[in-house]
Amino acid sequence: MSIDVVTFGCRLNAYESEVMKSEAEAAGLKDAVLINTCAVTNEAVRQARQTIRKTRRENPNARIIVTGCAAQTEAETFAEMGEVDLVLGNSEKLERASYGRVAQFGIEETEKVRVNDIMSVRETAGHLIDGLEGRSRAFVQVQNGCDHRCTFCIILWPW
Ligand code: SF4
Repeated sequence: MSIDVVTFGCRLNAYESEVMKSEAEAAGLKDAVLINTCAVTNEAVRQARQTIRKTRRENPNARIIVTGCAAQTEAETFAEMGEVDLVLGNSEKLERASYGRVAQFGIEETEKVRVNDIMSVRETAGHLIDGLEGRSRAFVQVQNGCDHRCTFCIILWPW
């Protein structure tokens, strides 16, 4: 098994999933499932948790790395799940080094949560991708509209 990516949420997340896969492959990561979550509603977070449990059942030996907006805003929720090996923030998920550390030293030697304060991020690195797997139309990232501030999207429901 190489690297599988499961994507929730918007087109930006879909684009970033391709970047993640490419960076993880370039870092030499293998046997991993990257789950790129969305935090727009409680239901989106619930679906991510459900998918993580299912992924673990179907891939007992894979490294499960959870990232995306729900991981950014609720890192501990995902870190507490026994099925999860690593939680990456929205900035860290785009960095090759995040995956290289796991590929080189193993998941056991990596701190389980690598999520920084998103408000400290002043720049997001532009990435080019070769294509979007499973889609006939590509997306071009022109602007990162939310600048990863997350509260732009999150709908607090139920009130
Ligand atoms: S929270 Fe917003 S930016 Fe993040 S994946 Fe969901 S819709 Fe996209």
